[in-house]
Amino acid sequence: MWKTDDGRSFELYEASRHDDLFMVAALDCDYLVAKPELGFDGEIVFSNDEKWILAPLSHANADRLRSLYPFTAPSRVLERDKTMGVGDRLGIATDGHLMVFRDYPQVTPILAQQSIRELNLTNRTFHDVIDCATFGVFRNNYTTGWGADGDHVKTADEVEYALSSGCTMITLDCSEQIDNTIDGLSSAQVSEGYEAFKAQNKDYAAVLEGIYLGKTFDVGEGHCIHFDEDMFKRCTLIYCKAIAHAIGIYENHIVSGGQSKGQRADFEISIDETMTPTHPAQHFFVANELSRAKVHIATVAPRFCGEFQKGIDYIGDLGQFEQEMKVHAAIARHFGYKLSIHSGSDKFSIFPYAGRETKGRFHLKTAGTNWLEAMKLVAMKDSSLYREVHRFSLGAFSEATKYYHVTTDLSKIPDIDTLDDAQLVSLFSMNDARQLIHITYGLILNAKDSSGASLFRDRLYRLWRTYREDYARLLHEHIGNHLKAILV
Ligand SMILES: [Zn+2]
Repeated sequence: MWKTDDGRSFELYEASRHDDLFMVAALDCDYLVAKPELGFDGEIVFSNDEKWILAPLSHANADRLRSLYPFTAPSRVLERDKTMGVGDRLGIATDGHLMVFRDYPQVTPILAQQSIRELNLTNRTFHDVIDCATFGVFRNNYTTGWGADGDHVKTADEVEYALSSGCTMITLDCSEQIDNTIDGLSSAQVSEGYEAFKAQNKDYAAVLEGIYLGKTFDVGEGHCIHFDEDMFKRCTLIYCKAIAHAIGIYENHIVSGGQSKGQRADFEISIDETMTPTHPAQHFFVANELSRAKVHIATVAPRFCGEFQKGIDYIGDLGQFEQEMKVHAAIARHFGYKLSIHSGSDKFSIFPYAGRETKGRFHLKTAGTNWLEAMKLVAMKDSSLYREVHRFSLGAFSEATKYYHVTTDLSKIPDIDTLDDAQLVSLFSMNDARQLIHITYGLILNAKDSSGASLFRDRLYRLWRTYREDYARLLHEHIGNHLKAILV
């Protein structure tokens, strides 16, 4: 307990205790308590006649904290062997996450990780996302480093927004430059398309033909990548725009000009948001073209075979996954980067293969499962609020499927009126119910009543605040299970 002389008392976070600075909890929110000379903004208070500043967790105070304690700022950690992104959409998960990463000190967290879509759906900014992690890191005295990912950013403006907000990693989503129509074409149609490309890009096409056409590349470990004419032409047509986009972003935004000439952030290329799995030759082609252009990438996210749907286990052939993982991992090692596994929430059945084939050098991304654990907590602690949200999400489901691909069958979700309160939590072990709650998160958080007040958001945040230690325990176990499975 920490008390002010005017009679207020706060719970003290022991791990944050420094002589001149520490963090305390009030009922609704946390504060920093700082000696005045440290320069935090806030209310002047006295405790045992000593003067202190009771500083709210604002962006300015986060900046001040980062300058005083550099471990509370994100840094470039993606090239460490084992990294895991734990998207915390709500800004309340860091305590639970850090319990996990203390158990697994060989894994470094990317605590802040949001896409522009997630920022929009949650009404947050990159500043807010990073600040929440900064305060959580200080509260828990987690000093060994963490990263911040501008996830699935697509344009130069989005990259600059992420970097200027402090992201230490950029995941460039090239999906808008990938031509998804090529896979369905016949060889004759591909040849026709390639001739059109060649007519416009004569010199580039000649260079590419010299490098790839009819050639075989040994990537080691017994894996050879061969480009017959059809494969070469398909690769060119599907990926040439995406490769040019990635090179442009790298040269103009990731590598700073002027004197320092360093990279401003770790760079991940994501080619996973496509209609069909990434063929190993396609993966090689993209990697080799980026390597020729001297683009330094830390991680690449191919689209693996099978389905990586939100919030549920892998759907697909595990044997095939294992075989493809071997080749993708060998290609990544050949070029010296790590594979990045996206939509990694709850993909327990593939983790042992991913861990083994990457030889323990991986980046794993999760996000939605942290939200699901938060909603599970609601089902455990406030059944009437959960029932309201559940009914709302059934009505909002079809709207949400515009943003997410799922195969949810709503008819398989039990009617909640037939469940008693203690049974509500069982919904979170049913795939269809998980996906219902998973993909409607933005609509739930943004729902308003007729007067414009939030329908659920404020009540949900109050519950999560009250039961924050329970939430941390849920995450400790559930996210911990992800690492237990992949660390083979
Ligand atoms: Zn992705």
